[in-house]
Amino acid sequence: MITVIIPFYNEAESLLVLINRLIKTADKMGEPYEIVMVDDGSTDNPQEQIRQLPSNIYIKFVCHQRRMGKGKALQTGIGNAAGEIIALMDADLQDDPADLPKFFRKISDGYDLVNGIRTKRQDSWLIKIYSRTAKKFLQLFLHSPFTDINCGYKMFRKKVLDKVPLYGNNFRFLPLAAYYQGFKVTEIPIVNHPRIYGRSKFGPGKLAGGVFDTFTAYFIYKFAEQPLHFFGPVGSILFIAGFLLTGYLAIERLFFGVMLYRRPALLLGILLIIVGLQVIMTGVIGELIVYLNKRDK
Ligand code: UDP
Ligand code: MG
Repeated sequence: MITVIIPFYNEAESLLVLINRLIKTADKMGEPYEIVMVDDGSTDNPQEQIRQLPSNIYIKFVCHQRRMGKGKALQTGIGNAAGEIIALMDADLQDDPADLPKFFRKISDGYDLVNGIRTKRQDSWLIKIYSRTAKKFLQLFLHSPFTDINCGYKMFRKKVLDKVPLYGNNFRFLPLAAYYQGFKVTEIPIVNHPRIYGRSKFGPGKLAGGVFDTFTAYFIYKFAEQPLHFFGPVGSILFIAGFLLTGYLAIERLFFGVMLYRRPALLLGILLIIVGLQVIMTGVIGELIVYLNKRDK
């Protein structure tokens, strides 16, 4: 069964159109499916719209008492999903339900996760430049196979979540994390319509969020089991730089009589040594936490 999860916050105008379109496509696909609508604390009275739906269709509605963010809404949706295949879709009609069969075809081909690529993206030029830079960066440094990692429209097998837990607002890194965990991932081009009703629920803050989420994905994949391998080199570089600097100052002081007052380099050297040690010790504590967790299991 396919579970289509749709989180929404103040999208009342879109809901009816969306659900009707979705049902039309899903019925044509001929697979068993369910729709899980997650109301993320909407204040624009979505019940009004929901009541107008025909009564013979099967949809789950879940409500948050107040707005908790898209990430939480997706988690709630997943908690209520009965299908072993899950699709995530926005409620604002920017994602087209007609693309659903394309996603499913890829899943049937044996892929574990299929991410959308928004062709003819309806976003501001700033976001476009940002996305392009982010994509290049991700491909270059994090070996990302994705073109449009921030695309919210995707389908995946539920088993992916056994290895890649969804928590907080980390839904943006799900594709990358799944890829790192060895799942078969792919992408398909999808249409991205301009927003007709309402306003975008995210400000520029989402850009920063994406950067941090992606870094988290990479960090967890690479260093979750061996944090010292990340903190060790970073701390060592700082420590060695500080050691060399203070060493140089010490030699000058001892053998060449250069006095140590009015030498800011001394402060810098000491700072580097202390910070370097701190960073290394953070890695050691990380290792300890990993070890204790494993042992207790
Ligand atoms: N959304 C939500 N809770 C929030 C913010 C957004 O459920 O706190 C939903 C929103 O209603 C929409 C989807 O997440 O269905 C994507 O949001 P939006 O279209 O505003 O993002 P954009 O397309 O501008 O990135
Ligand atoms: Mg949108």
